[in-house]
Parts: sequence; C-alpha cells; structure tokens
Amino acid sequence: MNSTEDPAADPTDRASLESDRNFLLRMRDRERKLLGKIDEAVARIEDGSYGRCEECGAPIGIERLKARPVTTLCIQCKSEQEERERRG
Ligand SMILES: [Zn+2]
Repeated sequence: MNSTEDPAADPTDRASLESDRNFLLRMRDRERKLLGKIDEAVARIEDGSYGRCEECGAPIGIERLKARPVTTLCIQCKSEQEERERRG
C-alpha cells in the first residue's frame, strides 16, 4: 500500500486545486463579511435604527431593504458611495 498520489504531480490538477482553494477562500471571506453585516443589522433592529440611512438619516425604502436587508445606506447615499469608489 504505497500511495503515490500527489496533487502537485500534475500541473493542471494543481492549478485547478489552487483555483478551487482561492474560490473557497473568497467564499469564506464573503460569508464572514455577510455574517458581520447581519450581526450589525440585528443590533440596529434592537436599538431602533434599522431601516435608516447611517449617512443622511433618511428612511431606506422597504423595497431596498427587502432586496438587501443588511444595507445601511439609502439608495442615494449608496450610489454616491459607489461613485466615490469608482473614482478612487
Ligand atoms: Zn442616505
């Protein structure tokens, strides 16, 4: 019983293992961020600030909350933020 199976032996396999691993790491990272956002959303529900934009204080539309329950910005502030990010 001498296993010679080595994932590093075949470069193609290794590349796909690498990308699987990167994919899983990205997934985990995204999930961790999402879990953090959910915790924050629950805290905001508890302190009564849920559903208000944290930037301008305006109510976030119910449709937007349904689509993105963890959002902290109204659509206007969100698009301004995205615009700033795009410009760097
Ligand atoms: Zn706002």
